[in-house]
Amino acid sequence: MKCLSLVTFLIGRFEIVPFTNKIVYVFPFIDKIWGELYYSRCVKEGYKKGEVLSQDHSLSVRVESIAVKLLEALRRESGRCHVLADQQWLVGDDGEVKLVKSCRRKDNDESVRVRLKEGIDWEFFVLDVPMACSGYINIGKVLVFTGMFDRYKTDAELAIIIAHEVGHVVSRHAQRRLTWFPFKLYHRFINGSDPEISYYLWHEQEADYIAMLLSASAGYDPRVALLALRKMKRDLKKLKGSEVPLLHLKERIEFVSKPEVMQKAVSVHQERMGGQCTDREYLVEK
Ligand SMILES: [Zn+2]
Repeated sequence: MKCLSLVTFLIGRFEIVPFTNKIVYVFPFIDKIWGELYYSRCVKEGYKKGEVLSQDHSLSVRVESIAVKLLEALRRESGRCHVLADQQWLVGDDGEVKLVKSCRRKDNDESVRVRLKEGIDWEFFVLDVPMACSGYINIGKVLVFTGMFDRYKTDAELAIIIAHEVGHVVSRHAQRRLTWFPFKLYHRFINGSDPEISYYLWHEQEADYIAMLLSASAGYDPRVALLALRKMKRDLKKLKGSEVPLLHLKERIEFVSKPEVMQKAVSVHQERMGGQCTDREYLVEK
């Protein structure tokens, strides 16, 4: 069995992306190398600078509590074991199964291994950086900067932002970007165009789509995706004077507003909430 795992680790395997049902080919060893590299650059550097908030900090607790709901929904939808890296199911003396924290993260700790067959052991980090920004590392790490909490105040908004990063990870976008390279060379030298912009938009829309369905399945109102993107667009305009092209906010807003996307997410949410109509709170832009 171990031998089979090693072969899969080296030669790769097919995976089905949750919600989109796209089939992607994944090379686990590339994923691991790439992920560890970015973990060192982002998280370990963050620890060195003292930017990573402790797991006991109220903002870390808030992010983890939202993340647990999203992972539970992801587990339900994908049939795979998506959990927090330091959580464990234990059987107590009374025979009841309990979810407990098996360990506390230590500063500059080694990255936790991704369990590729069963799912992903996730970790969520809050970095004390006053920027409204979030990011992901392909091996199941999500980073949220403290500036996000000033701009996205409700749990539903934060859930959409976090679920968007989860969407990038489960769609294997980091690894799929590596496969662009031959196409990029072809288009640049033969057609004289750069397809990278289109690929970025494609991946952002895919992550938005997963974010809406995942947060809806976790019980959060997916309509906030539209408001969150509009807010982001306004912030960037103030900041830069013009939109940052790679974020494609105009096209993403159009995409999430499409009836087939928004209606599907709202239906998932209504089903999750037991058929109750979702409230109208988020229809008013904040
Ligand atoms: Zn994104």
